[in-house]
Amino acid sequence: MIEQTSTEESVTRTLLKGLTLKELKDFFTAAGEKRFRGDQVFEWIYGHMAQSFDEMSTIPNYLRKKLNLYCELNTLTLVSTEISKRTGTKKYLFKTHDDLIVESVIIPEVKRTTLCISTQVGCPLDCQFCATGLMGYKRNLSSGEILDQFLMASVEYGKNKISNIVYMGMGEPLLNYTNTLKTLQIFAEQKTKDISLRRLTVSTAGIAPKIIELADSGLKVKLALSLHSMFDETRNKIMPINKKYSLAENLEAVRYYAKQTDTRITFEYVMLKDINDRTDDLNALIKLCKSLPCKINVIPFNSISHMAPTGLAHELQPSQKFRVDEFVKTLRDNDIVVMVRYTQGDDIAAACGQLAYKFEKNSKVDA
Ligand code: SAH
Repeated sequence: MIEQTSTEESVTRTLLKGLTLKELKDFFTAAGEKRFRGDQVFEWIYGHMAQSFDEMSTIPNYLRKKLNLYCELNTLTLVSTEISKRTGTKKYLFKTHDDLIVESVIIPEVKRTTLCISTQVGCPLDCQFCATGLMGYKRNLSSGEILDQFLMASVEYGKNKISNIVYMGMGEPLLNYTNTLKTLQIFAEQKTKDISLRRLTVSTAGIAPKIIELADSGLKVKLALSLHSMFDETRNKIMPINKKYSLAENLEAVRYYAKQTDTRITFEYVMLKDINDRTDDLNALIKLCKSLPCKINVIPFNSISHMAPTGLAHELQPSQKFRVDEFVKTLRDNDIVVMVRYTQGDDIAAACGQLAYKFEKNSKVDA
């Protein structure tokens, strides 16, 4: 489906950003133009990151005029950026055409620069440790809006500087499956080869049937499962989506994913005191990791107490440092690959699950 937008003059314009190569070719063919115009415009939008049709110098004048009249290119406006003096993490706030806030974060590291993007405004999942859940759910982002976070941040930060993209911002990518998949199809094309699928990670709370669908899509993107506990009883409490798609279903799905795509699964594990940091948790995790190609991202919990959540969310505490260290050491002693994701950019509220919240509350933070 090609998305259309109405402007004040009530001209219905076709939004080109977010269309796959095939959709762009079909669009130009249907408009009575040469099919290769689709290839050219694809390269301009995603390769050269053009922000206007006027920049597309290989497109003849008459066609650029038509595109200006009947098509739309950009989906987001950059509202502000904020940089953490401590870590160099840079937060981007964008606005959609319907005035919603979308947030992305660039995390510079020694060997790579990772962009974290959002796939929904808010999130319907209500994970108890996550600030995005507390915002409620507004809507899915279009494929153009998901891509524009990368394109606009790249233009601002420096083209070719972003080496990795993680779908770990606001929202659940696999509940916005069609649009997320479209963006992966776009990144899979030869013309956008600067970011290969091997440098893209889709992170999910566990929507088992969609994990299978993604495995069968042929797009060998990396997959992260927000595991957080090996026990349904605990997972049901901290991640209510587990009542719909159980741990067993999700683990079967990720095993299938690893096999089909020949990739290693990343398990994310936010460490919560007395909830998922007990010896039983550790032993169950070791057993799992020995059974499939994987690595673990241990994430110290970023407290969300400043948001005054109620119920279980209110009681959650980060695991103590010594317990995190013990956990990590034991996993490593068992030959399991572990990364510890220390909070990046907490001084600018750019930590996972905290996106867009500060802006909504209009409180300026010192970076
Ligand atoms: N819905 C997807 C992607 C968004 S969350 C998912 O669940 O994977 C991205 C990651 O941030 C997840 O692993 C999530 O569990 C983690 N996260 C959310 N809130 C957090 C918090 N307060 N502290 C640390 N990690 C958090």
